[in-house]
Amino acid sequence: GKFNLDGKVALVTGAGQGIGEALAHGLGEAGCKVAVCDLEFSRVERVAADLAAKGIPSLAVKVDVSNKEDVEAMVKAIVDKFGDLDIACNNAGIVYSTTENHSVDIPQTQWERTMAVNLNGVFYCCQAEGKHMLKKGKGKIINTASMSGTIVNHPQIQAAYNASKAGCVHMTKSLGAEWADRGVNVNCISPGYVDTALNRTEALTPIREQWIRETPAKRLADVQDLVGAIIYLASPLSDYCNGLDMIIDGGFTLW
Ligand code: NAD
Repeated sequence: GKFNLDGKVALVTGAGQGIGEALAHGLGEAGCKVAVCDLEFSRVERVAADLAAKGIPSLAVKVDVSNKEDVEAMVKAIVDKFGDLDIACNNAGIVYSTTENHSVDIPQTQWERTMAVNLNGVFYCCQAEGKHMLKKGKGKIINTASMSGTIVNHPQIQAAYNASKAGCVHMTKSLGAEWADRGVNVNCISPGYVDTALNRTEALTPIREQWIRETPAKRLADVQDLVGAIIYLASPLSDYCNGLDMIIDGGFTLW
């Protein structure tokens, strides 16, 4: 059917764990060859081996997305190995934990690193991937932003993270418009609170309970809840989707 991605070449950044790992498996199961890219190479070596064990052609790539040269080398390594690049999920992102008066006290290095990975990094990826895709007039780019690009996350407010994700959303819309008549779709997914290791710590237990209360669906997202949107945005069925921000949050932003 039209959701079939047989033989397509996909990359996922931040694929070493969490959401990115789930997206890599989802794309692989839909028929893609998958390059799994991460700063922590041992993580993507494991994910690549898991994919290969399922019969999915895979490649592990070490990349720091905040480094433009690294990102260009990542795209080149993938095109060299698989001969093409059809689908790119720019998913790597970071968040620093919050203390009281965080925005008064946040070290400059944390502010800058948040922007460097979550905003600059996504742009460098779009640029390198776009260069390849625009040349052949076809491609799908899907960034992982966050509902925190639209709402203010709480009760622990992270201004740097929120600003970086708002930037990611608006950059996605800008590139989505810029490349819309050149065969390259740029869209983003914006997860709500996801049940990943990061959000499962003991310190976060009361906050997690508050999130669940405030979510109409009465649970956090599972990483699997995000896979369907990626398959849709990677398939020809989304050819008329440009600069979408697909918020997948169990209704959190409705209240
Ligand atoms: P995670 O921390 O579990 O995994 C992120 C992966 O990205 C890690 O393997 C890490 O090594 C890698 N990474 C970090 N910096 C990198 C860099 N500079 N270059 C390459 N790789 C790097 O995170 P996750 O929860 O799976 O989140 C994935 C994305 O989803 C992020 O962009 C995050 O902001 C976003 N998001 C997460 C949630 C949530 O609740 N978990 C909610 C909304 C959005």
